[in-house]
Amino acid sequence: MDLFEHEARELFEKHGIPVPRGHVATDPAGAGAVAAALSGPVVVKAQVKTGGRGKAGGVRVAHTVDDAEQAADDILGMDIKGHTVQRVLVTEACDIAEEYYVSFLLDRAGRTFLAMASAAGGMDIEEVAATRPEALVRLPVDPLSGVDAAAVAAGFPTDVRAEVAGVVEKLWEVFVAEDCTLVEVNPLARTAAGVVALDGKITLDDNAAFRRTVSFDDIADGDPLEREAQAKGLNYVKLDGDIGVIGNGAGLVMSTLDVVAAAAAEVGARGPANFLDIGGGASARVMADGLSVILGDPRVRSVFVNVFGGITACDAVAAGIVRSLEILGDRAAKPLVVRLDGNNVTEGRRILDEAAHPLVTVVSTMDNAARKAARLAIAEV
Ligand code: GDP
Ligand code: MN
Repeated sequence: MDLFEHEARELFEKHGIPVPRGHVATDPAGAGAVAAALSGPVVVKAQVKTGGRGKAGGVRVAHTVDDAEQAADDILGMDIKGHTVQRVLVTEACDIAEEYYVSFLLDRAGRTFLAMASAAGGMDIEEVAATRPEALVRLPVDPLSGVDAAAVAAGFPTDVRAEVAGVVEKLWEVFVAEDCTLVEVNPLARTAAGVVALDGKITLDDNAAFRRTVSFDDIADGDPLEREAQAKGLNYVKLDGDIGVIGNGAGLVMSTLDVVAAAAAEVGARGPANFLDIGGGASARVMADGLSVILGDPRVRSVFVNVFGGITACDAVAAGIVRSLEILGDRAAKPLVVRLDGNNVTEGRRILDEAAHPLVTVVSTMDNAARKAARLAIAEV
């Protein structure tokens, strides 16, 4: 989960990283009140979970309380790359002498953590990376021994190196202690009062959500169907095809995606609409929740339910499918292709045959079932 800047800076403060004083506001009057309390020039900043706010006009310096209210009025409601601004952060303005860049991230391809730093920070770090790669230091970080902060700061001006190294060390502390996959400061600004984190971007590792004690604001974060699935405790990933997929076991679902993609290509359907592993157990409730999320995707034209009966036998799964269709009632309005195999398969198929639900077709092999689902996805209705 990505954090808002104002949430990231709270974590920075908690770990002793200098940030300018400031507060969030949800309306112009509130922004004015923060500005009045700070006294002196302030910066009014759009709180959206995307970068490039400065270039989009979402960061404004205001010299008076009235200016701050006006800036907040202009920025609130603004659309920045598809994100609507619902809050602004008002901070004391800093006199920036130089802008630096520092980040830590999980480098999946390199199977390591990575520290990146540049004395040429500011708004255009992507351009620095592309045109002057030598100006952007990239150092792997061993999770056990931690960061070599002096090495990360080696390219910075001599007189701030030690101070930057101190911040780098604390940012690594944030990364580890708060279970992050990204911590980025751009700009880390050099001011007369020392280096200050003027912007902060943090991505929390969702795998560590269970041990997190603070909760963060999850609004407008991610796909709405993925949010619904997450709320229902489902292992769901939205894709952009037209054939819904449900299976039990991640391996089976992944191979189902391949088979569905191939079958879709044969007939000109778009492909799998999602990944959904309902796991072992596969109760009627879980099946109904899964179907409900999948059928909530307007792109879905057909659904392929691919189940291998193991510990949970096919008859239980078949009963779950029948029961979930009862639970969903009229909300289940798209054709379902069901392939059952494994433990108690005969009884499972008998249950589905007996129910004879008009939307359900039982197909005995995975390939044929995928082809059937693909044909149904392109069929005229
Ligand atoms: P981003 O564009 O989304 O990365 O937003 P930032 O928070 O990084 O702000 C963009 C730019 O606004 C920064 O690179 C700074 O140049 C400028 N800025 C931000 N805070 C201040 C400040 O306190 N004083 C001044 N003079 N400029 C600031
Ligand atoms: Mn920035």
